[in-house]
Amino acid sequence: MNIRRIALHHIRLPLKAPFAASYGTYTERETILVEMEDDTGATGWGECVAFAEPWYSEETVETAWHVMGRFLVPAVLERPVGHPSELADRFAFVRRNRMAKAGLEQACWDLYAKRNGLPLAKVLGGVRHEVEAGVAVGLQDGTDALLAAIEGYLAEGYRRIKIKIKPGLDLEPIAAIRRRHPDLPLMADANSAYTLDDIPRLKALDAFDLLMIEQPLDADDIVDHAVLQREIATPVCLDESIAGAADARRALDLGSCRIINVKAGRVGGLAEAKRIHDLCEARGVPVWCGGMLESGVGRAHNIALASLPNFTIPGDLSSSSRYWHRDVVHPDVTVKDGKIQVPDGPGIGFDVDREFVARMTVRRAAFGSGPS
Ligand code: MG
Repeated sequence: MNIRRIALHHIRLPLKAPFAASYGTYTERETILVEMEDDTGATGWGECVAFAEPWYSEETVETAWHVMGRFLVPAVLERPVGHPSELADRFAFVRRNRMAKAGLEQACWDLYAKRNGLPLAKVLGGVRHEVEAGVAVGLQDGTDALLAAIEGYLAEGYRRIKIKIKPGLDLEPIAAIRRRHPDLPLMADANSAYTLDDIPRLKALDAFDLLMIEQPLDADDIVDHAVLQREIATPVCLDESIAGAADARRALDLGSCRIINVKAGRVGGLAEAKRIHDLCEARGVPVWCGGMLESGVGRAHNIALASLPNFTIPGDLSSSSRYWHRDVVHPDVTVKDGKIQVPDGPGIGFDVDREFVARMTVRRAAFGSGPS
């Protein structure tokens, strides 16, 4: 593929309702959409999932904008790309900055799949025609509000509920959910809000038959998580701590977790995400696809990724309407009977609504030659 033009669209989308986690609250989502065009006029789209603030990781929209524009985009334009999986090596001269790398790599995967007339899911090795939907419920003002939010999502057909927790907002809400929904597939995400001093509190969660507790300890840690996993019966799932397949291998060797949350943005792209998937599959460890409040572009990539065989736990895969009054893609991502169809059209299988993207754009930069 001769990539002749790359455009970055920094957009700002208002969230339908504020989303709160242990690290902060979002009322809008700033994100960067990546548009990549080759010399046949085919176009691929990706999304850089860095947030405006460095709460989830050190990357932000601003750092990604800088790193993509100054370093990564020129590396893509400099010579033809045979296959999207080549980009990780080509980007290796830039340390970390994985969300910036993944945004460009995703656009290249979409372009590659379109050039070959194949759905992205198929190109990645997906085997499912539909993926199970799950929803992440942010921290709420009180248990009644949390229970009401959960009722609403169950009525919409979601099969798995994930709630955000932090010390003091954990045992009571989880006990209340369990009283009302004894058999609901339920899990809790702490986004690193606990330490080993909290072992008694985390151990108390064993009584509630959670699918897993996600990232209870430090975002960089796999050692303390191994200590914790030995102490509690609930499976630990790692999210922030796993920046690539090497981390996943170390964490599994140490016994730091029994489940891994895979996010292409966090690990530098779809090729690395697939590597983690394959490693976990070989080790008999289930994975699921995490969410980063993506717009429809990132959401479409997540759906394709989650069609791989070892994604056996419902991911943070929700409808467009869960977050947005209006999404940037056509058609909307929809949940029916608890499932999302994996598109069978070429590439990500959703069309980008350019007019709406233009309206939501804060700034734009185009690189290379050709019409902009
Ligand atoms: Mg998480």
